[in-house]
Amino acid sequence: MFDSVRTSLTLWYTGVLALTLIVFSLGVYYLSETNLRQRLDSEVRTTTEGIARLLIYEFHEGESESQAVHSALNEHYFPNQAAAIFDAQGRLLSEKALPDNHRAEFSMGLSVPSETIQLMTVPGKDGDSSKDRNIVRIATQRVTIVGEGKSYVVVVSQSLELLTEELKALRRILLMAVPLALALAGLGGWFMARKSLLPVVAMSESARRIGAENLAQRVPVANPHDELGQLASAFNELLERLQNSFAQQRQFMADASHELRTPLSVIRTAAAVTLEQPMRDELEYREALTMIDRQAARLTRIVDEMFTLARADAGKRELRRRDFYLDELVAETSAAAALLAERNGVAVECIATKETRYCGDEELLRQMILNLLDNAIKFTPSNGRISVELSKNDSCHIITVNDTGLGIPVEARAHIFERFYRVDQARSRLQQINGSGAGLGLSIARWIAESHGGSLELLHSDHAGSTFVVSLPTTG
Ligand code: ADP
Repeated sequence: MFDSVRTSLTLWYTGVLALTLIVFSLGVYYLSETNLRQRLDSEVRTTTEGIARLLIYEFHEGESESQAVHSALNEHYFPNQAAAIFDAQGRLLSEKALPDNHRAEFSMGLSVPSETIQLMTVPGKDGDSSKDRNIVRIATQRVTIVGEGKSYVVVVSQSLELLTEELKALRRILLMAVPLALALAGLGGWFMARKSLLPVVAMSESARRIGAENLAQRVPVANPHDELGQLASAFNELLERLQNSFAQQRQFMADASHELRTPLSVIRTAAAVTLEQPMRDELEYREALTMIDRQAARLTRIVDEMFTLARADAGKRELRRRDFYLDELVAETSAAAALLAERNGVAVECIATKETRYCGDEELLRQMILNLLDNAIKFTPSNGRISVELSKNDSCHIITVNDTGLGIPVEARAHIFERFYRVDQARSRLQQINGSGAGLGLSIARWIAESHGGSLELLHSDHAGSTFVVSLPTTG
């Protein structure tokens, strides 16, 4: 349960809120307490000042001492406060106690009163300070009557009971409100998290149902603009790519088995026909074996090409880059092609910029150029001409292979780089002379160019010939 995102989201949310509320409550409590204490102090202080002022006034008016102290205490109304006036020796002259017998008490030992008001907190009458109602705040002030030469001590006392009651009520409110707010927020958070995560649950359920056999299914995208919608879209794009590559693999398997089937059946037929009769003359055996050998060579070539592509797909054929002269490679491959082309009455010429150093996989690049030349030879009738050119522009080495062959039909041009694609039916005469490939040569050549960061394109083709162009970046 604690592993679920919903639970951890809710817990985090509630935890952070709890921390905030606790800090907030402590702050409110502290501020309220300070405020209440300051208010109480100022009330006690005001009463003390008032009594002191009255006392001086009464004496000034010529009242007797007993009359003056009595009037000073009784002319003001100060609820919740007990007050008393003592003489300089600490003898009580007059007092005003509260109905609950709360009295303003004072002993000289407690503090020495001064002209300015002094405030202190003391345990109340029965001395038990753990009982809030018995804690009192006392203000004392010495009042000296000028002319009389006498001084008095005014004492005002107020119980902290009300203050502590108020704080207790605040505590109770906070202690109830904070957990209640947390519970409500937690519950709300739980439902919110549940609601927001519903699309994820739906996504994972439909993702679970998707397998190799129903890769066309997609997960639902609730709102393509929010984060979860983007996740679902990204997942669907992944499925799309997987579906495409699955389809490609299937197609590859189907095409490959189709390609392998023809030479295999030719081999089996040649063998079966030859073996039908117990004895044949040598020429017949030779013919059969020659056919079998040619088909086996074709099988070997197809399997080699498939192997190259399979390794390329699996990312296992890493480039073995080293420095070499590209012009020498072009010249070598052209010379090898010229030998083959000569038999068909086709000339091969090579124009290459000298001293073209390049860092790449020489073996693969050789295969790429040979594949292009092989096609050019296959599809160029006798008296034709093939030219291979190596040049350079600002950023690339350019290898151009041009022939005066049959050209590639317009509708086929978009497909010639696809695996197992061939345009051989209509051109069977040349095919028969030169032998047909499996339709992998250009796919491999393009992969080699691209794995070097470059490209291979069909630049131009018509009934007068075709031109293929390879670009290889000079850096990298
Ligand atoms: P293959 O290995 O069978 O030659 P490719 O992938 O090399 O297959 O070529 C695919 C098809 O493109 C070939 O079947 C061929 O018809 C066509 N093609 C390639 N190069 C040329 C060319 N120089 N002239 C005419 N057709 C070509």
